[in-house]
Amino acid sequence: MSNTEDCPCGLAASYLRCCGRFIELAAPAQSAELLMRSRYSAYARANRVYLLKSWHPDTRPELDPSELDQGRWLKLEILTVKPGLKKSIVEFKAYYLEGEVQRCLHETSLFKKVKQRWYYFEALANS
Ligand SMILES: [Zn+2]
Repeated sequence: MSNTEDCPCGLAASYLRCCGRFIELAAPAQSAELLMRSRYSAYARANRVYLLKSWHPDTRPELDPSELDQGRWLKLEILTVKPGLKKSIVEFKAYYLEGEVQRCLHETSLFKKVKQRWYYFEALANS
């Protein structure tokens, strides 16, 4: 996957101008939504290091590399965003392939801000 291709998160920009700024260049995401998008792109590119780095230290898992499967993520839809100064909630749908079958992860996620950086904290609900 090249850095000048369209960003996996669905915004109309190349990867490097979109989520790549946060993933490759370590710029802080200005909002929880942008961090959410960059985490989706990191899943799409199987970037375990970034997924762990953007996970809040209190809830950060081991994240087995075998759980990351580049190429099965199809599309991200951001449904609602409840912004806040220290906490923010993002509801999204992420479409992926399980074998030949298209599935959808529908999740409402909590993000927390620590020292000017947003982190994924936990799923409040998913289906
Ligand atoms: Zn993006």
